[in-house]
Amino acid sequence: MRVIVTGGAGFIGSNLILRLFKNHEDWEIYNIDKLTYASDHSYLKSLKDSGRYYFKKVDLVNRDEVHDVVQTFRPQGVIHLAAESHVDNSIQGPEPFIQSNIVGTFNILEECRLLWKEDEEAWKNNRFLHVSTDEVYGELEDDGFFTEETPYAPNSPYSASKASSDFIVRSYHQTYGMNVVTTNCSNNYGPHQHGEKLIPVVIRNALNQNEIPVYGKGENVRDWLFVHDHCDALEVAFQKGKSGETYTIGGNNEWKNIDLVRKICDILNEEVGKGPDGDYKNLITFVTDRLGHDFRYAIDASKIKNELGWEPSQDFDGMLRQTILWYMNKYNSK
Ligand code: NAD
Repeated sequence: MRVIVTGGAGFIGSNLILRLFKNHEDWEIYNIDKLTYASDHSYLKSLKDSGRYYFKKVDLVNRDEVHDVVQTFRPQGVIHLAAESHVDNSIQGPEPFIQSNIVGTFNILEECRLLWKEDEEAWKNNRFLHVSTDEVYGELEDDGFFTEETPYAPNSPYSASKASSDFIVRSYHQTYGMNVVTTNCSNNYGPHQHGEKLIPVVIRNALNQNEIPVYGKGENVRDWLFVHDHCDALEVAFQKGKSGETYTIGGNNEWKNIDLVRKICDILNEEVGKGPDGDYKNLITFVTDRLGHDFRYAIDASKIKNELGWEPSQDFDGMLRQTILWYMNKYNSK
């Protein structure tokens, strides 16, 4: 099986490729990625000479490049993760989000449609998995959960661009009957995330004795999922998901930002113990809130559990500690 993974040099894509490579010895994996500032292809260096992992630098916004790569690799499946992914950047400058997330999704989807429709078997069997976010649903108050039925109400340019891409993918199933599945996942944490995201920022700033910035009063709530669990869910959705369906994915693991930051500081106190006055929590500084900051995200992941048998693992403390140790190693070795 020939599978294209887009955005495979990013956080989730690289973890996913390592997993797919290990689990499917008969798969050839083609990673196509623009290699933006958010990427780091070195994480996959162990696969370089494997003979069944290939990389090509491709900007999905460039239709000619996408056409060439789809025609050359002739994928039997695509797992589409490439996107501009940082909400703060989308507030500063939305245009790359509109281009990469909306136009980029259209280009790869359309090139697959054109290739796969040439052959009846390919049209039936070849699958496009679109990886999206729970942020498309907007925000929750103290109660309730997002499900696949929740109406879309994106609030940031990032979530609006992802919502747009979800709709384009949906329309390819409704209109052409294309074999697509969409997943909407909560916040991921784990190894190889770009340093701009919350958990790496907290660890890096703490280790450097810098202030740890927390938006507003840190009351916003997120549902955290270990990246390997997300990759497990993506593998399941890609292989077993029903065409035209969407699946919400979450960790059943809600944390106020401030409580999560304090928890990371406590683990760093145990592992390193060099915080000011013996406590990294003394570095926490509240900063002006993000514009349009969604209050709470939480996922009800019963559909993927009941229909596809996927569940998140439960050991948040252990996986968070493992993540912190990974970043300690990364930042100390620089
Ligand atoms: P990331 O920013 O770490 O990686 C994105 C990758 O996409 C990068 O390697 C980048 O170079 C590539 N890319 C960006 N624009 C491109 C373009 N025009 N052409 C080709 N490649 C391009 O992001 P991530 O956290 O790994 O997220 C991956 C996907 O999962 C995204 O679609 C995101 O919306 C979704 N998602 C992320 C989370 C999360 O918590 N990180 C949660 C739910 C969904």
